[in-house]
Amino acid sequence: MSKYVYGIDVGGTNIKFGLFLLPEMHLAHTYETETPVVDQQTSIFNKIIESITQINNEYNINFDDILGIGIAIPCPVKNDYVEHCPNLNWEDMNVSNELRKHLPKHVSVAVSNDATIAALGESQSFDKPYNSVVFYTLGTGVGGGIIIDGKILEGNTGFGGEIGHMWVSNEETDITCGCGSKGCLEQVCGTAAIFRYVKELSKDEKTSIDIKYLTVKNVFDAAKAGDSVGLKVVNRVAEYVAISASILAVVVDPEVFIIGGGISRAGGFLLDLIVDHYKKHARFSTYKIPFILAKTGNSAGLIGAAHLIKNKIQ
Ligand SMILES: [Zn+2]
Repeated sequence: MSKYVYGIDVGGTNIKFGLFLLPEMHLAHTYETETPVVDQQTSIFNKIIESITQINNEYNINFDDILGIGIAIPCPVKNDYVEHCPNLNWEDMNVSNELRKHLPKHVSVAVSNDATIAALGESQSFDKPYNSVVFYTLGTGVGGGIIIDGKILEGNTGFGGEIGHMWVSNEETDITCGCGSKGCLEQVCGTAAIFRYVKELSKDEKTSIDIKYLTVKNVFDAAKAGDSVGLKVVNRVAEYVAISASILAVVVDPEVFIIGGGISRAGGFLLDLIVDHYKKHARFSTYKIPFILAKTGNSAGLIGAAHLIKNKIQ
């Protein structure tokens, strides 16, 4: 009889489900539903159980053949415990105990932070899976996850891998990061930072970028076409990512840096610039660590969550 695990990615807006066939982890079915907004402390769990039951029924799968459920959630997690999750209005909760109340006894549950889980998903998605990676998500927020020897790094309280809050810039700024500090990677490489820098430079320099309708794509397209403002902005993103990577390289020494998130859609153009800067900043033999683009995009959470539970039950 076929056996399965679920990978579930719980976000503030949607909950995504992936049903994976063991042992080869083939993604058999996907499903997506809206995240309930009322009484989230209980309603999200009810919705998860309701959705799983519905998927099982639709594909004629017996609960006996579901061995485990992996869950990605948008906040720091330590040993399945969440102190505070503003995106889901959860407080003081053991997520796996909460979910297991509704499940047959044989079903295992594993939980971790979504960016960390995405790192695991990405690391497992290449023809030859990577064991030790640093994964970046570059977008509105800058985050990431760290996998060492196949294990996700949560740290002592769940803040391990919050690479967007590494201090990298001593540029003068009035802007304080969400974490309360200044000069975080997110504050110089996130979407808002990109737009701010375009606006600032365009006061003194001519640019083909339409300042009224700023998008990350327009900024990168302008850079690729040789626009000097676009080039400076993209170059700054690349340099700060490279500086942060050079620090992480001497801390965790990964096999590879994987670059994901909306900004990474700039592709090889951005990657090449990051590598150029990285080689200047890297110490010892860490300059050899390659950078690659993320592969799975929005499915990284599902895939990573499924691998997290697979690793737990094996
Ligand atoms: Zn910060």
